[in-house]
Amino acid sequence: ETVKAVDGVDFDIHYGEVLGLVGESGCGKSTTGRTILRLLDPTDGEIVFEGNNITQYKKKQLRPVYERMQLVFQDPFASLNPRKKVGDAFEEVLYVHKMKSRVERRERVKDLFEMVGLRQEDMEKYPHEFSGGQRQRIVIARALAVQPKLIICDEPVSALDVSIQAQIVNLLTSLKSRLGLSYLFISHDLRVVKYMSDRVAVMYLGKIVEIAPADALFKNPTHPYSKALLSAIAAIKPGQKRKRIILEGEVPSPVNPPSGCRFRTRCKYTTKQCSEMEPELKCIGGEHFVRCHLC
Ligand code: SF4
Repeated sequence: ETVKAVDGVDFDIHYGEVLGLVGESGCGKSTTGRTILRLLDPTDGEIVFEGNNITQYKKKQLRPVYERMQLVFQDPFASLNPRKKVGDAFEEVLYVHKMKSRVERRERVKDLFEMVGLRQEDMEKYPHEFSGGQRQRIVIARALAVQPKLIICDEPVSALDVSIQAQIVNLLTSLKSRLGLSYLFISHDLRVVKYMSDRVAVMYLGKIVEIAPADALFKNPTHPYSKALLSAIAAIKPGQKRKRIILEGEVPSPVNPPSGCRFRTRCKYTTKQCSEMEPELKCIGGEHFVRCHLC
């Protein structure tokens, strides 16, 4: 039996754009990111990257794709080899990507370290000698080593202290402008997503239920699930009150999702139509799309 962790996930990421992806844990955010990178194989649908349909690409065909698309994830320590000096590990990455001259590689590593706010002498250290924030900088630099255009950031700051989170968020923002990057920014932290994103997609039980420019979504969340999710963060304007909406009930299992609208078991507006027919993602104006029969 196939469990559809994500289904009906339709979105584009434009050049130079940050698309935030939010939802409770287990809603399929990470699965979506990993499927775009083809670390997971989709059973259905298409992944088109820079005009090429990469859905069926074999390993060898994916190699050049990975020079344009990279992943930065939550646990930087797990992705660094503890027995290698970080500078050497970087050089290996560059060697694999056809930078054969040692001098050139050293120079490039130096540039990358500088770009993410690390010192040249840090190249000679082992991963355990760095703090969590510095390790995340290393992982970002390594992702940049191959000069990608799209970075899938999967909870890139969740494991860090709040003060360090801000530094990494600022670093990602400045790198984006400097290098013309696009990000798919996956996070459960709504404040960070609001700060980082141009547009935001809200996921519930494997489906996008709302997608809109960040301003529009945070000012006027329209899907009942988005309303509840976003009510957890403070009002947008000073003095404005937003009442926290507490959702009743558990998130249903993706093995056996509810018929019709997947949110209907927790939605206070549910009607007969909601259990019989699945709502489509409909445009409610401009770039604002919502999956709900009421809209
Ligand atoms: Fe609620 Fe029905 Fe809208 Fe689903 S379609 S969110 S159940 S009102």
